[in-house]
Amino acid sequence: MWRARARGTFREPSQGRQVLDCGDGVCEVTALVLAARKTPELAAHTASPTQSGDSEDSLAAVQDAHAGQERADGQPSFPLSNVARTRLNLASNHDRSERMAEAAHKPVNYVGVDLGGTKILTGVFDARLRRLGKLKLSTKAERGPAAVLERVARGVRDAVDECDLDFKSIKAVGIGAPGACDSENGRVIFAPNLGWENVPLKEQLEQHLGLPVFLENDCNIATLGVYEVELQARPRHMIGVFLGTGIGGGLILEGNLYSGFNRTAGEVGHMIVQAGGPKCACGNRGCFEALAGRAALFRKIQAAVKDGQKTVLTDMIGSELEDMRSGDLRKAIRRGDQFVEKIVQEAAHYTGLALGNLINIFNPEVVVIGGGLIHALEDEMLPIIVKTAFDCAMAGTTKGIQIVPSKLADNAGIVGAAVLARMRTK
Ligand SMILES: [Zn+2]
Repeated sequence: MWRARARGTFREPSQGRQVLDCGDGVCEVTALVLAARKTPELAAHTASPTQSGDSEDSLAAVQDAHAGQERADGQPSFPLSNVARTRLNLASNHDRSERMAEAAHKPVNYVGVDLGGTKILTGVFDARLRRLGKLKLSTKAERGPAAVLERVARGVRDAVDECDLDFKSIKAVGIGAPGACDSENGRVIFAPNLGWENVPLKEQLEQHLGLPVFLENDCNIATLGVYEVELQARPRHMIGVFLGTGIGGGLILEGNLYSGFNRTAGEVGHMIVQAGGPKCACGNRGCFEALAGRAALFRKIQAAVKDGQKTVLTDMIGSELEDMRSGDLRKAIRRGDQFVEKIVQEAAHYTGLALGNLINIFNPEVVVIGGGLIHALEDEMLPIIVKTAFDCAMAGTTKGIQIVPSKLADNAGIVGAAVLARMRTK
């Protein structure tokens, strides 16, 4: 489950600096850090007992360097060479150890939490939003809000610990929750996936963690993550649409997350795209989510199979189609299953209609499509989505508009939550 700290690779040094690509971005580390790590005493310090590979070792160097970069007094926070140590001895040992201790505990990092109906994803990020580690726990929503919040708190502490960071290095926690959230007061107003009503999430998590906690709707937060971290050009207007079990979205207007009068804007999944269509979890009929969300697709496939429809999916995962995943649909299509292909094409068509409506209303520069369904079925869905959206949008209004898939996949939520934590504590 722990997937952090295994992807770093060094590139060529340039202008006296070494560069390490840690997967989510590029980390620059002073050559001093890397030179220092060549001495045995330093290697002994920077390699933890659990580290074995080069990339693990390299990321430890980055973490040391990050701590060093954040120090206001310009002193490196990693162990020093003998020469440097002699120089530092000019200062009193007491002052030095005070400064070292202060740097080690300085709150410079952020934790982002994506609280879902089935899993809690927790990511630890440095001050520049580079991911240092990630942890996944099951939600166990059936145990109730108090137990789930205890699990969230445990996930935060364990994720920080897995990064070999002091908990005191965490400045704030951001969290995205499904459903309607009052972000100002930190309450989850209504989250049917969790079975929650009016839960004071911020207050309770702050009690657990002793840190500032900031709450937002999960798709708003994922949009924020894509906008701040993934989009290089920083468009003024952007829409995020996330195709997962359900469908959610977020609006960036004039460079800011738009939350609306009652702070519930962005519910794109409940746009009605087929009058009198299938029933949605919200109570309406024909919502975008009820036609193109993963749960809707799976229900449709299972119902058709019960009625005698043949599909390779039953050979792949059994006649009950339990534990079906988005990737199974892709595999079935690639094995020539026309039934599954048609279902996915219909979902792509409705997604295109929804995006066409959004383009007509908001005229965004970019629409980013994220979530597990598009991640698994990009080749099968994206061309249909783009064509349908541009066909549906008014002529002459789409010039320059881009519809692109997000590469953050499941990580958009934790990235956005860390962005939120950093924004609110700056
Ligand atoms: Zn709905």
